[in-house]
Amino acid sequence: MRNTTQRTEILKYLRSKRHHCSAVQIYDAVRKVIPNISLGTVYRNLNNLLEQKEIISVEAVDKCIYYDGFVEDHAHFVCNDCKEIYDFPIELEKRTSIINAGFSVDSERVIYYGKCAKCKNANR
Ligand SMILES: [Zn+2]
Ligand SMILES: [Zn+2]
Repeated sequence: MRNTTQRTEILKYLRSKRHHCSAVQIYDAVRKVIPNISLGTVYRNLNNLLEQKEIISVEAVDKCIYYDGFVEDHAHFVCNDCKEIYDFPIELEKRTSIINAGFSVDSERVIYYGKCAKCKNANR
């Protein structure tokens, strides 16, 4: 199996999910298409895709890395209870002070931690 096929399948899977997946989740899904793929190969391809900025990664509260095929700048909210990761648009006005200082922003990583609406209501 050629390397590009593995890479394409991993990217296709991540782009098809508006969701953040762990390497193991990606491995389980891609294995259905490429049965002989190893977890190590998945990691290698993920690191490659990260380097090429085809995907981004998010570190959750449990230190697990989740991969995101949606690379437009956006903020993440990680729920401390259910560990779900949510996407939110970035508030561009936050950059004003940086832009005003004459700097330019290439990318932005914002992660909020807390309780999602579902968990907040469940704990009442
Ligand atoms: Zn939650
Ligand atoms: Zn995301």
